[in-house]
Amino acid sequence: MKKSLPCWMFAFNVFLLALLPGVSAGAAEQVAIVGAGYVDVLTGKAVPNAVVVVEDGRIAAIGPAAGVPVPAGAKRIELPGKWLIPGLMNMHVHLGLILPGIQMLEHANESDAQLALRMAENAQKSLLSGVTTIRTTGDLHHADIALARAIGRGSQPGPRIVSSGEIIAITGGHGAFGEVANDGADAMRKATRREIDAGARWIKIAITGGIGTPGGGVQQGLMTPDEIASVVQIAKRNDIKVTAHSGSPNATREAVELGVSGIEHGYFLDRPILKLMKQRGVWFVPTILVSQPATFEFFQRIGAPAWYMARVREVGKAHWLALKTAIEEGVNIAVGSDQFPFEPNDGTTATIRETEYYAEAGMTNLQALQAATIQPARMIGMESQLGSLTQGKFADIVAIDGNPLDGISALRKLGFVMKSGRVYRNDWDRQSAVPPLIQADPTEAGPPPGDAHVDVIF
Ligand SMILES: [Zn+2]
Repeated sequence: MKKSLPCWMFAFNVFLLALLPGVSAGAAEQVAIVGAGYVDVLTGKAVPNAVVVVEDGRIAAIGPAAGVPVPAGAKRIELPGKWLIPGLMNMHVHLGLILPGIQMLEHANESDAQLALRMAENAQKSLLSGVTTIRTTGDLHHADIALARAIGRGSQPGPRIVSSGEIIAITGGHGAFGEVANDGADAMRKATRREIDAGARWIKIAITGGIGTPGGGVQQGLMTPDEIASVVQIAKRNDIKVTAHSGSPNATREAVELGVSGIEHGYFLDRPILKLMKQRGVWFVPTILVSQPATFEFFQRIGAPAWYMARVREVGKAHWLALKTAIEEGVNIAVGSDQFPFEPNDGTTATIRETEYYAEAGMTNLQALQAATIQPARMIGMESQLGSLTQGKFADIVAIDGNPLDGISALRKLGFVMKSGRVYRNDWDRQSAVPPLIQADPTEAGPPPGDAHVDVIF
């Protein structure tokens, strides 16, 4: 029998709807950021003293103050002398990352529930560090997909997440945990379908060994061509791209010829393979941070074992040369840190240190800034929505104290974060940001979180 709602309940539901973001019946609130300059990463132009009008989470107008009036009634955010750039993007993130060392012991008994909560906290910290979009490249139990949806609904603060689901790995290969290992073309097709069904928007395969995992060196092509081809076949039919964790030029050549769209790490990539990547429009996400001195302090902090550090040092020189050569060859590069985006490194965050390294390896300041903004947006096919301060795009805006075109290290002085028009951080006017999101309660200090799942490592 069908019952109709009593009318008071209907009215109450309408009232509840009005409380939801974006469903309000009134006129959209306008916000104007005034006093700051901005960098147009599409043209490389720096526009001093600009006005940015934000409405409905998007950039409604942007340009020099002389040409863009502040609408009457708009809420003003004053950022005099600061520089606005697009929200940073980090394309190689594991929000549940645990590396070998003390950290791994601390999390030895972590439950799935604890893992999900830890990842939610990491997402929040990532956003506060200025990173408004990430691509996750392998987290367990599709927790990143659940989190992506929670963030999308507005029930969790965090960057928008484009997930690669769980890594598609082979038995004994990098990224193979528990029962999630696949061998042979049929198993690969099934795994690819499974990840897409779970909500993955990229597919990540591990075709060689990794730094932090036993079972195969970074130079060994462990996944066979028929296995790689079957992943690409299913992904293509779903209009989804495949990226490959690879350390080896030979394995990379095989994968590129079979149609993968991205290469992660690329520790030993040489000029011929980088030329081929350039020719085929294949993306390179270097994660250079994982093998360079800026991270050594981080590895010490997490108590990384000696064997692990030896492997890091072993690949460092080749990895640096691969990055330099890729820049010389004009390969498309997108920032990816393979550490938490906010992880402290060398006095700044992993995302920013990674970006600085690109400039040190040969990029101009503009190119490095593009690698952290518009290039990732292009890589994930969202350049019409994200990646530059352009009318109509999402208002993902960070402010820094300095013009990054004069020196990319200006990113270190980041003090303002807006995502989709909402201010999450404003160090120069704390009143205008949402209240602190993370606050420890000393009466709740329990034992360290534990976990039986070892998350993805490099
Ligand atoms: Zn990784």
